Amino acid sequence: MIDLRSDTVTRPSAEMRRAMADAPVGDDVFGDDPTVNKLEDVAAQMLGMDSAVFVPSGTQANLIALMTHCQRGDEYIVGQSAHTYKYEGGGAAVLGSIQPQPIDAEADGTLSLELVKSKIKPDDPHFARTRLLALENTTDGKCLPLDYLAQARRFVNEHQLALHLDGARVFNAAVGSGVDVREISRHFDSVSVCLSKGLGAPVGSVLCGGQAFIQQARRWRKMLGGGMRQAGIIAAAGLFALENNVKRLSDDHENAEFLATGLQGLQGVDVVACSTNMVFLDYQCDFSRWESHLEEAGILAKVGKRTRLVTHLDVSRDDIEHVINAHREFFGECP
Ligand SMILES: *Cc1c(COP(=O)(O)O)cnc(C)c1O
Repeated sequence: MIDLRSDTVTRPSAEMRRAMADAPVGDDVFGDDPTVNKLEDVAAQMLGMDSAVFVPSGTQANLIALMTHCQRGDEYIVGQSAHTYKYEGGGAAVLGSIQPQPIDAEADGTLSLELVKSKIKPDDPHFARTRLLALENTTDGKCLPLDYLAQARRFVNEHQLALHLDGARVFNAAVGSGVDVREISRHFDSVSVCLSKGLGAPVGSVLCGGQAFIQQARRWRKMLGGGMRQAGIIAAAGLFALENNVKRLSDDHENAEFLATGLQGLQGVDVVACSTNMVFLDYQCDFSRWESHLEEAGILAKVGKRTRLVTHLDVSRDDIEHVINAHREFFGECP
């Protein structure tokens, strides 16, 4: 099956599995796992930050970041549709006693700094203490403009807020913006990165930040049940991903572009957006018929009112051609 539901569906390659099997390991709770230590060093270095901590998931990376930046009764400002706010079970509020202040994002994925400013609470016992601004990059595949990141940095300095990046796909953002990832990460106090999406590792994220920040983050990780033992087995996959699968993200971006171009002009298919490895579509047809047609053609997609198709390292150019042809066949006869 050609699986376009998400870039989380990637499977570890034979070389990645070999790296996992061969990884030297130790008890990471004692700080003894050389592969975990190496992954953390490499991740921190790639992002130009002091330190990093390896965690099981992006959700835990973001939760730990929020809990490290904010204390009980503090507030963070975040996009209404941001993953940290909308798709992480309300963890910051439930487990961190942190109040979210969600705001609508602009069409380009940025949060208007004017709007953010209007939501910062005065220093008064009536209000939660506004401590943090959280951004997401990429967001719906879109790369946040680099000059906006610089403005956001100046803004948080002026207002004494911390700045966190949910960088689940920050390497897609770097490749999509044509810059080294440090040109993005340098504006932030902390960055979470998923190793298990387009980078192709089976498990894991890293949270990067300053030394004191990561030291505190390790305490929260332990408390949240994220302390792992011979985690080098999975860290090896993340390390392999960082060392081998970053540059090739441009293939995924080119495939998404190729897909969007191939679907343009088809009757009943509106290509709404295409950025980095994501194509957004509106179909004007009977969804149930369409979904079963796709499945018969060997294609998995989550079809809905707005459909997102995601390219990744297990989808080739030939696969994309097959997907375009499946659309042509079906939509040729769509009313
Ligand atoms: C996937 C993702 C996460 C983390 O999700 P996990 O499933 O916990 O790894 C966080 N933010 C964004 C934007 C994501 O896409």
